[in-house]
Amino acid sequence: MLSLQNVSKTYGNGTVAVQGLNLDIGERQFVSLLGPSGCGKSTALKLIAGLAGTSSGELKWADGVNDHAANIAFVFQESTLMPWATVFDNVWLPLRLKGRSKAECQAEVMAQLDAVGLGAFANSYPRELSGGMKMRASIARALITRPKLLLMDEPFAALDEMTRFKLNQDLLSAWQLHKFTTIFVTHSVYESVFLSQRIVVMASRPGRVIAELAVDAPYPRTEGFRTTAQYNAWCIEVSQALAHAGEHHG
Ligand code: ADP
Repeated sequence: MLSLQNVSKTYGNGTVAVQGLNLDIGERQFVSLLGPSGCGKSTALKLIAGLAGTSSGELKWADGVNDHAANIAFVFQESTLMPWATVFDNVWLPLRLKGRSKAECQAEVMAQLDAVGLGAFANSYPRELSGGMKMRASIARALITRPKLLLMDEPFAALDEMTRFKLNQDLLSAWQLHKFTTIFVTHSVYESVFLSQRIVVMASRPGRVIAELAVDAPYPRTEGFRTTAQYNAWCIEVSQALAHAGEHHG
């Protein structure tokens, strides 16, 4: 789908956020970017989303098109829901921006809300929702446009473990159903192993890729996967790569 080739990004204040970053993302893959705080994970997502420009190197899309804004959805850790709008109106927003009326989108938005378990909360306001429900609404809003690429920046980091596990499962179900590509930023080893086909381990100063691991377990991955010896073995392997990332400060 896309390839970052020897990409560097230096911010205006001189901070070198990533340097010599190489990353290939295949169609429909689920890839996690894992690494210590400040290693350039968010910067990599912003470059891919086109929210920031590269300082050097290339970002190549396999289809040769450079503007992919219409095919990309972004989910952040902080809920970016509009507080004054209902859950329905928040999820309708991306379609509304495309000029589609509320009546026309009624069934589509309700189906998406049902899919994330918020069908009964269409007329609620964000302040009435728990953290997990707000995140479900944010995911519904991201998926309503049927993006080809979903970028997620530590989406579940602020949630309690049970909620996080459930959202992990639901995200994988949506990914299997709609077949979008996911790039998922996390600093949780356990979460990256549970979700991903590939884990890209990054180190900081400067931000770069130092290891890559494949998690070959089949999908669907159920809660039972979390207690298998194989899952544990992958977690140990990834933790070791991450510990190595900590030693790689330049
Ligand atoms: P991560 O997501 O892995 O925590 P970031 O991509 O957010 O890492 O940040 C990488 C480095 O770039 C950090 O040193 C951070 O302080 C710096 N940085 C991020 N955004 C900006 C910005 N807009 N201006 C200046 N420095 C930034």
